[in-house]
Amino acid sequence: MMQFIDLQAQRKRLGSRIDEAIGRVLEHGRFIMGPEVAELEERLGDFCDARNVVTCSSGTDALWMALRALEIGAGDAVFVPTLTFVATAEAVVLTGATPVMVDVDPQTFNIDVDSLAAAVKEVEADGDLRSAAVIAVDLYGQPADYDRVETLTREHGLKLICDAAQSFGASHRDRRVGTIGDVTTTSFFPAKPLGCYGDGGAVFCADDEIAATLRSLRIHGGGRDKFDNVRIGINGRLDTIQAAILLEKLSVFADEIDRRRGVAARYTDALAERVDTPVVLDAAETVWAQYTIKVDARDDVAAEMRSAGIPTSVHGRTPMHLQSAYVDYPRAAAALPCAEAVAGTILSLPMHPYLESEAQDEVIEALVGALK
Ligand SMILES: *Cc1c(COP(=O)(O)O)cnc(C)c1O
Repeated sequence: MMQFIDLQAQRKRLGSRIDEAIGRVLEHGRFIMGPEVAELEERLGDFCDARNVVTCSSGTDALWMALRALEIGAGDAVFVPTLTFVATAEAVVLTGATPVMVDVDPQTFNIDVDSLAAAVKEVEADGDLRSAAVIAVDLYGQPADYDRVETLTREHGLKLICDAAQSFGASHRDRRVGTIGDVTTTSFFPAKPLGCYGDGGAVFCADDEIAATLRSLRIHGGGRDKFDNVRIGINGRLDTIQAAILLEKLSVFADEIDRRRGVAARYTDALAERVDTPVVLDAAETVWAQYTIKVDARDDVAAEMRSAGIPTSVHGRTPMHLQSAYVDYPRAAAALPCAEAVAGTILSLPMHPYLESEAQDEVIEALVGALK
């Protein structure tokens, strides 16, 4: 069976560099907040032009920290797209705030701004909750429609958090992901475009005060006085070993994004006439975390491809508003029809920077065969 994401191909390319980086940490022994952590924050900031970078233990903790740094909590409504990874809504609940599920655009799979506007209006008319923030998710690596999202957040005085767990390295018009919104979060889970060898994440922001709060939240809400914790925080640090690994991976990341673009272009060339291939907005540059098509009889197609040795994946099989723990939270409308329809047809094909043309041809052939 072919691999959906081949992490070993990248390790081979980097040769002994990752092993040596881990070895250096083992030697100096500063496993918690060692020098590699600060160096990585500096380098991530250089990469995406962000003024402040605070690494942390995961993309989920990054979201919780971002929400808390923006003082979001009980009584606040936070609007989230229903087609996302569970962490987007989960982090909202963990702050005491209320997630409000919003429909998605059937072409880009990102938050539908008309549905968002309707949900904001409803919450404001209702008056039970304060309309506080939007978490726009850059699903599958493509930045959300920030032209329209930002018009709406400005009009309604909402904070904007960008969940860039899948889109670090992407951009929207002339802005890199990491510099959009009030705060941006990302994840270094191994399968994300920039992944480490365990859990990890980061938060990006322009505002120095928010950055100081994020640093405090990351280490138990610590204050200036080491023995006085000034707010409720978490143990949210990134391990030094993971920072050391990420420093090596970051050095080839720009090239890997180019390679992903090449793989995506090749898929689109071969498949555009047969299936609904991904739609990328003119304003957006995606990093192709996933290459996700839409097909009828999706589960049959996936089963057929699997029997031909080709793995596929469905990222977002059940929208949030239909998941057991989340069914009772408010939503933009009784049904979120686009998300529900899209969830039944999306299929992600093998995608990573080192997918060779021959392997890609096998994927294409298996898909075309399954469609017959
Ligand atoms: C992966 C992911 C997260 C969570 O990241 P972890 O590092 O696994 O906690 C959050 N949001 C989205 C959209 C994700 O894809």
